[in-house]
Amino acid sequence: MERLLMGPGPSNPYPEVAAALVRPVTGHLDPAFLDLLDETCERLRTVFATGNALTLPLSGTGSAGMEAAMVNLVEPGAPVVVGVNGLFGERIAEVARRAGADVVRVEAPWGEPLDPAALVGAHPAPSVIALVHAETSTGVRNDVAAVAAGKGDALVVADVVTSLGGIEVAVDEWGVDVAYSCSQKCLGAPPGLAPITVSDRARSRLVANPRSWYLDLSLIAAYVEAGGGRTYHHTAPVTMVSALHGALGAVLAEGLDTVRERHRRCGQALQDGLERLGLRLLAPEGHRLPQLTTVVVPDDLPGGASEADVRRRLLQDWGVEIGSGAGRLAGKVWRIGCMGHTARRRNVDALLAALAEVLDR
Ligand code: PLP
Repeated sequence: MERLLMGPGPSNPYPEVAAALVRPVTGHLDPAFLDLLDETCERLRTVFATGNALTLPLSGTGSAGMEAAMVNLVEPGAPVVVGVNGLFGERIAEVARRAGADVVRVEAPWGEPLDPAALVGAHPAPSVIALVHAETSTGVRNDVAAVAAGKGDALVVADVVTSLGGIEVAVDEWGVDVAYSCSQKCLGAPPGLAPITVSDRARSRLVANPRSWYLDLSLIAAYVEAGGGRTYHHTAPVTMVSALHGALGAVLAEGLDTVRERHRRCGQALQDGLERLGLRLLAPEGHRLPQLTTVVVPDDLPGGASEADVRRRLLQDWGVEIGSGAGRLAGKVWRIGCMGHTARRRNVDALLAALAEVLDR
C-alpha cells in the first residue's frame, strides 16, 4: 500500500522531486551540476529570505546543520545561551557542549514556548544565543524574531529544521545570523541535506580550524562560491542536490506565501478536527505549529490498546503513518505532520476519518 507519511519525518515528495531522482547522475564538478547548485543556493536564499552569500545545502541531515553552526561559531570556553523546551533544544545544548561551549541553558517546560527576554538576559555577553524555531518534539513555535531583536553583540543561531517552507522564516529581517534546516520536512525533498545560511557578521567571526574538517564552513564556501574558482572539498551528493532543487522549484512555482497558507489551513483543519474528536492538543493556542501537531494520547483507548497499537492500526489498515512522542514525551503524545506535499486537505480528512474509527469516537 502506498503510504501517507504524516509523521515528524520525511513528507511525501513533490512530483518534481521524483523526476529529479531518476535523472541521469552528472559528475559533481560538471558545469551543468555547478549551475544547478548555484540555482539551488539562489532558491534557498529566497526561501530563507536572505541575501547572505554563504547559503548552501550542506551534505548531511538537519543535525549536520546544527553541528556546523556550533563548531564554526564556538571557541572553547565561549558562553553560549541555549533555549531548551524540547528534544531539539536539548540536542543543541549537547552539540554546543561538545564544541567546547560554556552552555547557559534557558528552559521552559516541554509544551510551552521559551521566554525571549529570559534568553536575551541569561548572560551579560554571550557569544551565541541558539534556539529552535519550530520544536518538533512538542509542536511549539518559539519567537526567534524577538530573540534576534534583543541579541546585542551575540550571534543568533536559529534551528529552522521544521519551520522552513511551512511558516514564516525571515532571516535578514529578523536579524538571524545562522539558520539551518533540512530537506525532508516542509521543503518536501528526501532527507540528506541541511540548507544553511550564514550572515556576513557571523562569517567574520567563524572559528579558524573548527573541530570538524568536514563541516568547516570556510572550506565549504571555497567549493560552493564560484568567485575564486571552485576548490574541491568533498563529493557533493549530486542526486540529492538535484532533488532539493526540484522541491524548491515546486515551492517557488506554487509561491512561498501560498505554500505557507496551505500549511496553515491544513494545520488548522487538523487541529480543529482533533478537538472535535475530543482529543487534547499539547501546545497552547497561539504557539501551535500548523505543520506539526502534538496530540495528548487519551487514557481510554478502546479495547485496552496501547498508543503504539493505534499507530500500527493506522499504518496497517489505512496506510497512514503518524509519529510517536519523542524524548520525555514518548508514549504520551502523537506527533502528526502536515508538511510539504503532504499538507493537503484530503490527507487531513483521511487521517481524521481513520483516527475516528480506530479510536471509536
Ligand atoms: N532540529 C529539529 C527541530 C528537528 O525536528 C530535527 C529532526 O527532526 C533535527 C533538528 C535533526 O534533523 P535530522 O533528523 O534531519 O538530522
